[in-house]
Amino acid sequence: MNRSDNQYDVIIMGGGPAGATAAAVLAMHGRRTLVLEKEKFPRYHIGESMMPYCYFPLERIGLIDKICASHFVKKYSVQFVSRTGKVSQPFYFFQHFDHPASMTWQVLRSEFDLMLLENAREKGAEVREETKVKETLKDDRGYVIGVKAETKTGEELTFHAPITMDATGRDALTLARNGWRVMDRRLKKIALWTYYKGAFRDPGLDEGATTIAYIPEKGWFWYIPLPNDIVGVGVVAEKDYLYRDTRDPHEIFQREIRENPWIESRLKVGERVDRYYVTGEFSYRGLHCAADGLVLIGDAFAFLDPVFSSGLFLALWSGEKAADAVHAALDAGDYSAARFRDYSEMMISGIEAMRKLIYAFYDQDFNFRELVMKYPEIKGDLTDCLLGDLFRDFTRLFTAVGEFVELPDPLPHGRPLLSELCVSSS
Ligand SMILES: Cc1cc2nc3c(=O)[nH]c(=O)nc-3n(C[C@H](O)[C@H](O)[C@H](O)COP(=O)(O)OP(=O)(O)OC[C@H]3O[C@@H](n4cnc5c(N)ncnc54)[C@H](O)[C@@H]3O)c2cc1C
Repeated sequence: MNRSDNQYDVIIMGGGPAGATAAAVLAMHGRRTLVLEKEKFPRYHIGESMMPYCYFPLERIGLIDKICASHFVKKYSVQFVSRTGKVSQPFYFFQHFDHPASMTWQVLRSEFDLMLLENAREKGAEVREETKVKETLKDDRGYVIGVKAETKTGEELTFHAPITMDATGRDALTLARNGWRVMDRRLKKIALWTYYKGAFRDPGLDEGATTIAYIPEKGWFWYIPLPNDIVGVGVVAEKDYLYRDTRDPHEIFQREIRENPWIESRLKVGERVDRYYVTGEFSYRGLHCAADGLVLIGDAFAFLDPVFSSGLFLALWSGEKAADAVHAALDAGDYSAARFRDYSEMMISGIEAMRKLIYAFYDQDFNFRELVMKYPEIKGDLTDCLLGDLFRDFTRLFTAVGEFVELPDPLPHGRPLLSELCVSSS
């Protein structure tokens, strides 16, 4: 491979939703774009429930018609189920937002991620699967100027570009290599999940609802209806609570099912058809979202507890917005970290809003119903957060929430790592 063969405008490490969205946008801008993905798609991934505002990045990259024509389950609402099994009034998105985006989807990530990656290819990006990035390469000023990768067969490859995007998901290559992963200690939970076939689904509009069903100590189940009569069901709680008398996933899962009659009765008519999956290490944010020649997107930058299904939205959104910033940086011939200041402020403000809501959700004394009863005027703000309209001022909402619970201070990190030259001239 000679120099011109391996020279790109931008290299994207990771072809999940964040990377594939960024790749499509950059290819649509006419940029020579390379995606390096370590797996062969389709591959399994957790994270099936979308927020309504996913619509907008998907529309930008031309995927709405394809997704509408797919067998993904239509999601119109979210509902909550108390510990005794009492179901709340469903929160229908269309009652708050008169737009086609008010209907969203429960997706099979194997198919959804493949659709996104193929779309990036169709738009003109070069995608190399089964090619794992081993390290980024820097010049003598410290700018990232490319990557070293290895194929499944052990072939070592080098690629160059003035800007690299890290979209490696929770592997978070840059955070891991630089010690930049800062955990959100109070949101340290465990998730344990599996899949059932034939479990009970509500008919009609509610068939595709996401249900959040409570168990003791503010733990909760997700219940997500998927295509092919499959339901994804998982439990999230504190480690000490879940592991209190056994570490066996089957025993824990079956024990917790019995903690919520709604979950128990629905699963009873179905059959478990997959193994149990477990993950911890919840909720972190990178010390920085960019360095010279490098920008981080999706879970490679930050990850939040999945209770409000914000992960896919933040991945798609950050992929799109960072790609526009990369395009502008390429136009300007300036690849410094400072180019990503606006991107970082936007992402941090949205993540902070969602993070406060998640803290409130887990507070033993907090209840969204009481909040809205006392302050009906903030219902719209709350709705916007749940839809994914995150990037605006929520002072009124969080002043009200702050009367009920102690909210976390904003985290100080996540901004670009500015070089000395930039810091002194800014
Ligand atoms: C338990 C749980 C439940 C969740 N539920 C939801 C939900 O209901 N709704 C929701 O919106 N989100 C949910 N999420 C979050 C969601 O899964 C993620 O936010 C989303 O997948 C992020 O997309 P991404 O593109 O940033 O990363 P990923 O989807 O992880 O993609 C990263 C890609 O990078 C590749 N990669 C990694 N390292 C390398 C490397 N060195 N070289 C090349 N390629 C590499 C990986 O193979 C992968 O394909 C959940 C997460 C968890 C843990």
